[in-house]
Amino acid sequence: MFVDKVQLRLIAGKGGNGVVAWRREKYIPKGGPSGGDGGKGASIIIQADCHVYSLEDYRNIKIVRAKNGGQGGSNQKKGKDGQDKILKVPLGTIIKKTSSNEALYDLTEHGQQVTICSGGKGGKGNIHFKSSTNRAPNQCTEGTDGGEEEIELELKLIADVGLVGMPNAGKSTIISKLAKLPVKIAPYPFTTLTPNLGLVEFDDYSRILIADIPGIIKGAHHDKGLGLSFLKHIERTEVLVFVIDIAAQDQRDPLQDFLTLQSELKSYNPNLLQKPSLVVLNKIDDGNSDEHCKQFKKSVSLESTPILETSAVNNINMDELKETIRELAQKKGKKF
Ligand code: GDP
Ligand code: MG
Repeated sequence: MFVDKVQLRLIAGKGGNGVVAWRREKYIPKGGPSGGDGGKGASIIIQADCHVYSLEDYRNIKIVRAKNGGQGGSNQKKGKDGQDKILKVPLGTIIKKTSSNEALYDLTEHGQQVTICSGGKGGKGNIHFKSSTNRAPNQCTEGTDGGEEEIELELKLIADVGLVGMPNAGKSTIISKLAKLPVKIAPYPFTTLTPNLGLVEFDDYSRILIADIPGIIKGAHHDKGLGLSFLKHIERTEVLVFVIDIAAQDQRDPLQDFLTLQSELKSYNPNLLQKPSLVVLNKIDDGNSDEHCKQFKKSVSLESTPILETSAVNNINMDELKETIRELAQKKGKKF
């Protein structure tokens, strides 16, 4: 689960002022009051939208202001209402009050809307103040201020698929090839490393969220470095993809890498190895990879775990990888 957060100050629109005005029509000798009311200030509404995947749009915004209502006019003309401002956020966004850290709303359904700050009311024009004793009232009222709120939006994203692999195995490259839409989230407070998220889209427009989880290193389950926090994320994914650098550059041993990854996961939580998984032998464009692939397959025979040979850089077997991921996710009950 990846948490993405932004803080915003929301200021709804002020109501427009009412005005003092008089009738001046040609054939109406005794003009009366005709000052119209001010328009309503715009409210700020937050709406969950299944086509939005991150809070990226709000990252560089500190203040959101909605429009003020228009001032009333003569001839009893009402001022224009400010058009409500709708902020679209991903499903799974929690809205908190910054001051108290109290959760106000949890948006989980597409289209769900909450009004966080209501627009101010329009003031009254002098038409409202006419009475038998005062036929020419000079009175009108101002619009009221709109609501204001400091909020924090917090998104909890659960990736469907987690890529696990040693540094430089090619995880980020694979995501960039599979995912049409990179999902940007804020850097983690505890590390400069950010999980790399991508949204993989299929021909029928169904989508899978895939996460490249950095920091799996030997000793991760003892929380050396950043390991543990990322292992927690892996726990929630439906499918695991082991990415192995089969070119075995830098004197790496692909088989040993795989065993290390497995034992790291196992010592953290043995159930992790029960998840549907897939092994990707990446970098087959490299000269030495044929031999390494053969050896790897000889040593590792996993009944229910497909092994795919890929080159992310040269786009070899990327479609197959995408399809296999989809099949595994579907088996696991992911609905498309
Ligand atoms: P990560 O640390 O697992 O995210 O690995 P990256 O995706 O950042 O890749 C590490 C390095 O390996 C980069 O220089 C990539 O260009 C390279 N790389 C990734 N995939 C391939 C591949 O299929 N073939 C080759 N030759 N290099 C690759
Ligand atoms: Mg990476």
